[in-house]
Amino acid sequence: MPNPRGPRAPRPVALVGLGAAGASLAWRLAGTGVPLEVFEAPRGAAQRTQERTWCTWGPPGGPGPFGPLVVARWSRVRVVGADGQEVVADLGSWRYRMLRSVDVEEAVRGRLERAGVPVHEVVVEDVAALARRTGAQVVDTRPVPVPAGGRTLLLQHFLGRRVRTERPVFDVRTATLMDFRTPQPAGGVAFGYVLPTSPTEALVEYTEFSAQLLPPGQYADRLEEYLRRSGIGAHEVLAEERGVIPMTDARFPPDPRAGVLRWGAASGSVRPSTGYAFSALQRQADALAAQAVRGGPLVLPPAHGRRHLLMDSLVLEALATGRVDGARFFVELFRRNPVQRVLGFLDGASGPAADLALMATSPRGPMLATVAGRLRRRPRAPVRSPEPGAAAALRRSLRR
Ligand SMILES: Cc1cc2nc3c(=O)[nH]c(=O)nc-3n(C[C@H](O)[C@H](O)[C@H](O)COP(=O)(O)OP(=O)(O)OC[C@H]3O[C@@H](n4cnc5c(N)ncnc54)[C@H](O)[C@@H]3O)c2cc1C
Repeated sequence: MPNPRGPRAPRPVALVGLGAAGASLAWRLAGTGVPLEVFEAPRGAAQRTQERTWCTWGPPGGPGPFGPLVVARWSRVRVVGADGQEVVADLGSWRYRMLRSVDVEEAVRGRLERAGVPVHEVVVEDVAALARRTGAQVVDTRPVPVPAGGRTLLLQHFLGRRVRTERPVFDVRTATLMDFRTPQPAGGVAFGYVLPTSPTEALVEYTEFSAQLLPPGQYADRLEEYLRRSGIGAHEVLAEERGVIPMTDARFPPDPRAGVLRWGAASGSVRPSTGYAFSALQRQADALAAQAVRGGPLVLPPAHGRRHLLMDSLVLEALATGRVDGARFFVELFRRNPVQRVLGFLDGASGPAADLALMATSPRGPMLATVAGRLRRRPRAPVRSPEPGAAAALRRSLRR
């Protein structure tokens, strides 16, 4: 007779999607003895997510188990104001790091193959049927439409190009997180983002946080304008990456069906104020893998703390209403705080004391006006939403 107090046999897991979330869990579960099957949309399918780069930051070793896959790292970060004034901060032992989704997927597929885990190249339509058919706990990381019900929805939309210059113009030690020498949209913010990989090569992006997407051709114009203004100048284009990431304080509802756990960007793992998710996904993947190995039901831990979500919600609203000048807000945040306090907050790793200190350096008048506006505005009314046409464009972009 089995010992009722003994370890439970692990329940099988069926993982749908091998993007940032799926790959992070698959890596951890392969070879643990948890019966695992993976389902990923085939190359060329409309549902398949395109290749992308993931950046993240933190102490030595990470992110999660993927440290050996980091293709570039920077020991300093830089923020540049609209007037060209710079804040450059040394990260100490931390690094700002870049991974390529294609490398992560290849490494994870190799590990799955060695562990004998089947990877089915198939578009999954019905995850509840998959749960019934396999008897497994389904972890569903397919994208979902942005849920309604938030106060603010901004879009982080960008065009990035890997460029090569003739002259050496890049400082390979320094990642430029935000360079505000770009025209600024009303109710949002725009900036250049520069990740050099050699003195003559870098990924350079034009990024906007705003309510509306630009007409498709304008991204290249804005990026070229930024390349001129920032002094990067003449260059050839080696590769291109585009993206639209919703930045919202809406709650992403769980899948109510038995045996199905919705996870990833689809469960609100993207941090509303930054559009970053990779390190939150590593924390969640650690927890889910431990639960699966113990044989218990999978219960998703929150990606972000309540205090951080509240602070994000206020910042999003202050940006969307134009109460704060976004460019000045971010420059002052980096100028007036130690860099690890800012990056710790943006990563969700900061405690209450650090967050209070950070809040004390934010523009008090506009932030208090935002809080006061909330107290007056009942019931909860949306602050800023993309127009209906933009919502359709967003859905198309999210399928990329
Ligand atoms: C262009 C871009 C760049 C980003 N850069 C960063 C960054 O630098 N740092 C950061 O922290 N965050 C970044 N993010 C935010 C976030 O980390 C990413 O969106 C991340 O990929 C989310 O992971 P995910 O697993 O939830 O979704 P995805 O990575 O999109 O994975 C979903 C997977 O499901 C598969 N799939 C979809 N539908 C089906 C189906 N029906 N059947 C089977 N499989 C299916 C897809 O092919 C895909 O592999 C970025 C987002 C974008 C859009």
